[in-house]
Amino acid sequence: MEKITSCSEMQQQARQWQSEQKRVGFVPTMGALHEGHLSLVKESLAHNETTVVSIFVNPAQFGPGEDFESYPRTLENDLAMLDQLGVDLLFLPSQDDFYQDGFSTYIEPPVVANRFEGTLRKDHFRGVTTVVLKLFMLTLPTNVYFGQKDFQQCAVLSTMIDDLALPVQFHRMPIVREEDGLAMSSRNRYLSESDREKARAISAALFSAQAAFENGEKEGCILRKIATDYLQKHGIHEIDYLTIVDPRSLTEVETIVTDVVLLVAARIGTTRLLDNILLTE
Ligand code: AMP
Repeated sequence: MEKITSCSEMQQQARQWQSEQKRVGFVPTMGALHEGHLSLVKESLAHNETTVVSIFVNPAQFGPGEDFESYPRTLENDLAMLDQLGVDLLFLPSQDDFYQDGFSTYIEPPVVANRFEGTLRKDHFRGVTTVVLKLFMLTLPTNVYFGQKDFQQCAVLSTMIDDLALPVQFHRMPIVREEDGLAMSSRNRYLSESDREKARAISAALFSAQAAFENGEKEGCILRKIATDYLQKHGIHEIDYLTIVDPRSLTEVETIVTDVVLLVAARIGTTRLLDNILLTE
């Protein structure tokens, strides 16, 4: 696996591929890789001639007091996993090269960013849209792969791609879960043993609402109550939001007549966990 750390070298390589008309798949990550990340990488490897993965812990998407400094960094392990899968190129930009002195251009995210994570994490999505657009300009991909795990991020980025007519094909890939249902996340390693045990209730709460939906319950408030009661019964009381929304606009839906997504963010100890489930006929 080739490694590039310089932004200009990355773009030069991408231009070369472009001139050879190669189909390039791109998977941006912040490292601390797990099977969720790898599912995106495998999808890219299956559908492109060249696969680029980036690892960059992007300071612009962390707020003050968030975990930028302590975010898990497991480069050696990440390298081994990507190498084994057959990734062609790993892009590892340094913070100083990516955000050179005087950097001051940011992408204003679309309105779908102005709720949920966007209200709880000020400027988070502005950091995400900025880093992702720049990564696209450096890697010039044909196909880009993101995880449904970060559902709002997918909505923000696919809207940005549409609004700005970016010449990339967006792919939203399903959530990869641990055996007990917990959505895989780099942040799961922050959980203590007892919190990890508790955390399984998050996905179980979503599944209980899904079961009721599949049994004919179409009222959002009842499905929300089923999931909220489940969380509370299992000791999860710090729920940032638990909501049923339209998958594109992320506006709240009361009576379900078409596909929706149930989004949840909850805190267990000091760790914030996100999960979601699509409710489809
Ligand atoms: P991150 O390194 O957390 O920025 O994640 C990089 C990409 O992996 C994002 O598109 C995430 O949505 C995706 N991802 C993270 N966890 C999972 C998961 N459990 N299943 C599928 N995709 C995931």
